[in-house]
Amino acid sequence: MLNNKIIENIRVNFENELKSVDKLQLLEDLRIKYLSRNGQISALFEQLKDVSKEEKPLIGKSLNDLRNVAANLFSDLKAKLETTDTNKLPKIDLTLPGNKYAIGSKHILTQTLDEIKSIFKGLGFSVNEGPELESDYNNFGALNFAPDHPARDMQDTFFISKDFLLRTHTSPVQIRVMENNKPPVRVIMPGRVYRNEAVSSRSYCMFHQVEGLYVDTDVTFTELKGTLVSFAKQFYGSDLKYRFRPSFFPFTEPSAEMDITCYICKGKGCKICKHSGWLEILGCGMVDPNVFGFVDYDPEKVSGYAFGMGIERTAMLKYGITDIRAFFENDFRFLKQF
Ligand SMILES: [Zn+2]
Repeated sequence: MLNNKIIENIRVNFENELKSVDKLQLLEDLRIKYLSRNGQISALFEQLKDVSKEEKPLIGKSLNDLRNVAANLFSDLKAKLETTDTNKLPKIDLTLPGNKYAIGSKHILTQTLDEIKSIFKGLGFSVNEGPELESDYNNFGALNFAPDHPARDMQDTFFISKDFLLRTHTSPVQIRVMENNKPPVRVIMPGRVYRNEAVSSRSYCMFHQVEGLYVDTDVTFTELKGTLVSFAKQFYGSDLKYRFRPSFFPFTEPSAEMDITCYICKGKGCKICKHSGWLEILGCGMVDPNVFGFVDYDPEKVSGYAFGMGIERTAMLKYGITDIRAFFENDFRFLKQF
């Protein structure tokens, strides 16, 4: 029959066994032995139903006390062991391979622009940047675009207000440079530009350009050709052939586009060059005297040339990329090739 002596014995046994516990696993064994549903203390509660009605309150109270004391001793020791028991720390296996950290790299557009910058710096150009939000005046007016020029149409340009827009080319930086510097100037101007165009493999609503400008006394078209041929040979390869075709831009006169021989087929004709054997790489020309008028340069005393190219297009030509969207989708499989 359950009595206080039995309860006291269990308490003494529990406390004695607890004294030798120095590992969390041993403590867990002890919890199962005494405090779990099938443990010794629970078994005593089972026997309470056989105790006489008179003794039941007293024995019941002793049992509750025992359970509380045991549970408190148990949780105190558990908290202590959790801070000291080294067995709970994960075991280190020095033979396992280490964690690899992926090393980042520059985006292919940044790499391409860095290479272009480096070549033009070697040719004596400095680098200048301007804002992406531009005035209609800098983007069009001062660059000799007529008021009814189709590029000013809302369908081609993202207008922010009547007088401000997201620049459609990097050419407005030419105006900013000339307004703030007396000739000679020799700069390249890279940056983001925006066009209100449907997105496809060939065109995107945002892309990058790099613009070049050289103004001094007696600058000639021959110097323009020399500079651009030097660039093209350093960037695309020294064995290329090139040609300049007449073209039109509002801010240059005369204007031209520069082609190089297709580096894939070496001029024989292929899919990349649309079977012409030639690839257009940039637009250029002599600065229109009207533009000098807008920036207080005297067209009688100075002359200059300007050129511009799309950085996406340049990278697409150099690396054989066929979809402009790939630059902006952040697909790691595409990016890590470069
Ligand atoms: Zn080709």
